[in-house]
Amino acid sequence: MTDTALVAGGGGFVGSHLCDSLLNDDYDVLCIDNFGSGRPRNVEHLLDHPRFTLQEADIRQPSALPPVDEIYHLASRASPKDFTDFPVRIALTNTEGTRNLLDHAVASDAKMLFASTSEVYGDPEVHPQPESYTGNVNIRGPRGCYDESKRFGETLTVAYEREYDLDVRTARIFNTYGPRMDPDDGRVIPNFLSQALGDRDLTVYGDGSQTRSFCYVDDMVRGLRALMEARGLQGEVVNLGSDDEITIQELADAVIDVADTDSEIVYRSLPEDDPQRRRPHLGKAREELSYEPSVSLQKGLKRTLDHFSEER
Ligand code: NAD
Ligand code: UDP
Repeated sequence: MTDTALVAGGGGFVGSHLCDSLLNDDYDVLCIDNFGSGRPRNVEHLLDHPRFTLQEADIRQPSALPPVDEIYHLASRASPKDFTDFPVRIALTNTEGTRNLLDHAVASDAKMLFASTSEVYGDPEVHPQPESYTGNVNIRGPRGCYDESKRFGETLTVAYEREYDLDVRTARIFNTYGPRMDPDDGRVIPNFLSQALGDRDLTVYGDGSQTRSFCYVDDMVRGLRALMEARGLQGEVVNLGSDDEITIQELADAVIDVADTDSEIVYRSLPEDDPQRRRPHLGKAREELSYEPSVSLQKGLKRTLDHFSEER
């Protein structure tokens, strides 16, 4: 019999690629999204697919859902710009919303994967960040609504695992990019690519010395699927992303190179609590999932640039 996967946030950037991947492997897919930050065009190509169902719903409210075999919980706005505009919605999506999906997992006797984030490490004092690091989050700062609610979301998954023996796993996702990101969502790669395509200057915040490690979406989806499928990881948390760390200045230079543009770099103020260094320790993902990111930044940026260019 075909397995059914529920993808909450399936209309978003990562979620829509995950829906594609699951459909390719013969799953029935139920995509739930309120299209707060996701875009209907991300799943437009799936609407006529016989094994794809779209349910427009908000996970903050419990809704009638059919029993499923697997739940991927990716529903949450993820752009720092949204942390300022929608803090209550974000905090409740990652807490009340997570609770609703955990309840559905218990009722369905399903496996569940919760998409957490490198933001649970805050502005890290340990580098690179292993899963055992408990983080340095400013709970009252502008990122607190996201960081702290993802942390509580993780706490809830652990509580459900202990009390209901639920098979729930958590992925701590590090910066991921690729086609179908919203060009206007404010994150650095969509910003830089949109600016380069429009021959506008690239806006580096601060002096550009802060670092990130950027993962192409196909590598992320492979990691999420592997984490859901691996044996023996009930209740576990695994970092997923790329550990190829670069400065934001280097990223701006790479975008200018890939886009072959005359755009220049301008410097703007650094947002409050912007993490200075970030790189996942991927030892656990490598050991438990044989996970290895494979798409180079140059190749991934080019594919994303081509997609943004087609969308314009
Ligand atoms: P995205 O905004 O493109 O996708 C999130 C999706 O969730 C959107 O389609 C949005 O409409 C939907 N959503 C939000 N709140 C909802 C609600 N209350 N009810 C129903 N749907 C809701 O962002 P993304 O980058 O694809 O992120 C997907 C997941 O991965 C998120 O949980 C995010 O926190 C996590 N994550 C992403 C990154 C990254 O770099 N892309 C990094 C860390 C964690
Ligand atoms: N950033 C930047 N210019 C932009 C957008 C972001 O220099 O136009 C910086 C931001 O300050 C941060 C890094 O790029 O240091 C990554 O930002 P993003 O919002 O993509 O994600 P974060 O990792 O901060 O959640």
